[in-house]
Amino acid sequence: KYSTAAAIDEPITPPVEVNYTKLLINGQFVDAASGKTFHTVDPRTGNVIADVAEGDAQDVNRAVAAARKAFDEGPWPKMTAYERSRVLLRFADLVEKHNDALAALETWDNGKPYEQSAKVEVPMFVRLFRYYAGWADKIHGLTVPADGPYHVQTLHEPIGVAGQIIPWNFPLLMFAWKVGPALACGNAVVLKTAEQTPLSALYVANLLHEAGLPPGVLNVISGFGPTAGAAICSHMDVDKLAFTGSTSTGKLVLELAAKSNLKPVTLELGGKSPVIVCEDADVDKAVETAHFALFFNQGQCCCSGSRTFVHERVYDEFVEKAKARAANRSVGDPFKQGIEQGPQIDPEQFNKILRYIKSGVETGATLETGGDRLGSKGYYIQPTVFSNVTDDMLIAQDEIFGPVQSILKYKSTEEVIRRANATSYGLAAGVFTQNLDTANTLARALRVGTVWINCYDTFDAAIPFGGYKMSGIGREKGVYSLRNYLQVKSVVTPLKNP
Ligand code: ADP
Repeated sequence: KYSTAAAIDEPITPPVEVNYTKLLINGQFVDAASGKTFHTVDPRTGNVIADVAEGDAQDVNRAVAAARKAFDEGPWPKMTAYERSRVLLRFADLVEKHNDALAALETWDNGKPYEQSAKVEVPMFVRLFRYYAGWADKIHGLTVPADGPYHVQTLHEPIGVAGQIIPWNFPLLMFAWKVGPALACGNAVVLKTAEQTPLSALYVANLLHEAGLPPGVLNVISGFGPTAGAAICSHMDVDKLAFTGSTSTGKLVLELAAKSNLKPVTLELGGKSPVIVCEDADVDKAVETAHFALFFNQGQCCCSGSRTFVHERVYDEFVEKAKARAANRSVGDPFKQGIEQGPQIDPEQFNKILRYIKSGVETGATLETGGDRLGSKGYYIQPTVFSNVTDDMLIAQDEIFGPVQSILKYKSTEEVIRRANATSYGLAAGVFTQNLDTANTLARALRVGTVWINCYDTFDAAIPFGGYKMSGIGREKGVYSLRNYLQVKSVVTPLKNP
C-alpha cells in the first residue's frame, strides 16, 4: 500500500555532497559568462539542492570553440583508437568506484528510487561505457570493388563537434547513450543537461577527465533550452546534433539545424507505446510486466507502456489484478529501502499529470485506483489505473509521462494492430502471448522501433533503440549508434596495372 504521508514529509538526508555546480569548458570548471545561476530542486520537497551556473549562448560559444580546437588540433581524434578505448575503460572503472555517491546524487536531483540508481542505472552506465570502449578500435571502412581500374576504399571518420541535448528522466543513462558513442568514434562534444537535473553529469565529467580525457573533448553546459539548448542547435561550428526530449522540442531542434548549417540530427522523442495482452497470455506475468512497463521511473519514460490493450476474454481478470498491483505499489522517499516510486520531477509535470487524471475521469474512463497527489509536500502522485479507456480519450492519445495506466479492451488481432498503430508515435510496444504465430504477426505489424515480447524495458547496451514516425530519427545503443557519429569518405585511386 502507498507509503504514509508522514514517511514522505520527513525526507531522509541524502548521503552525498554536491561538489560540482559550474560549467565544464575546456577541462575547467568555470562560472557562466553572465555570472547567473539557477536552482536545482529536490523533488521530494521542492527545496533547493544547489545553485548551478546557468550557461547561455556566450558559454556555448566558448564550449564550441574548445571542442572545435580539441577536434581540429587533437590529440583526441588522432590518438590511436586503442588509447581512446583505454580512457573510456579507465573512466568506467572510476565510475564503478563512485557508484553509491553518484547514485545518491542522481536520486536527490531526480527523485528516482535510490535502489534503482545504485543497482541498475549506475551499473548500466558503466556497462555502456565498456561497450563503447570495445567499439573504439573496431571501427573501420570497406574495400569496395568498382566497375573500372580503381582501388576504392571507405574511411569512417569522426563527424567533428557533436552537440548533445539530454532530458531529466535518466540523466546518467542519457549521458552514456550520447557521449559514449561520440567519444568512441573520436568526436568532441558539447553536452547540455536538462535544467531539472544538472548534477550527475558534472560529477561524471570530472571523472572522465581524471581518466585521461584531454581538455575540450567533452564540455558540459548546464542551463535552459531556449537559451543554451537553442544556441547549440543553431551553432555554425557544431557538426552534428543528438537530442532526446519531447516531440515538440525535437521539431524545434530540427528546424534550428536546418536554418543554420544543415547539421545532421538524431532525435529520440515521445511515445504512446501499446502493451498488448492477448487472450492466451500468462495473465499474472502480463499484469506484473505491464505494471512495470508503465510505472517504472514514476511513469517518466519515453517508451512507457501507456496504452494497455487487453483481450476481452482476459480483460476483467487483468483489470482486477492490475488495480491490486498498483494499489500495492510502495511510494515514498526514494532514499528509503524497498520504495518502488518516488516523486515526479517538478511542479510542471506534477500538475500536468493531475490534469490528465482529471480529464480521464471527465471523459468517462473508470478510475480503478489512485487519482490524486500523495502527501502534502513534494511531487508525489498515487499510482493510478483507469479501465474502460477508449481510443478517443485524451489519456489514450497524449503522452502523460506519469504513473497513470490506461487499460483498453479489444476483440481481435486485426483490430488491435490497427488501434495500436493509430498514433503519430512509434517508439516501442509490448506483446504478451504464448503463441509464436501471434507474436510474429504482431512483431512485424507494429510500426515501432522496439517490440518486447513477454518482457518490457530490456535495455542492453547492444540493443538498438529509437522511434518510427514522430518518435524520432535514428537509433541509439548498439552498432547502429556509431553511424550517428561517423562520416563515410570514399577514396578512389586509379590502378596502373589492374
Ligand atoms: P520536457 O518537456 O520533458 O522537459 P524538453 O523536450 O523540453 O522536455 O526538454 C529536453 C531537453 O531539451 C532539455 O535539456 C531542455 O532544456 C532542452 N530544450 C528545451 N527547449 C529547447 C529549445 N528550444 N532548444 C533546444 N533545446 C531545448
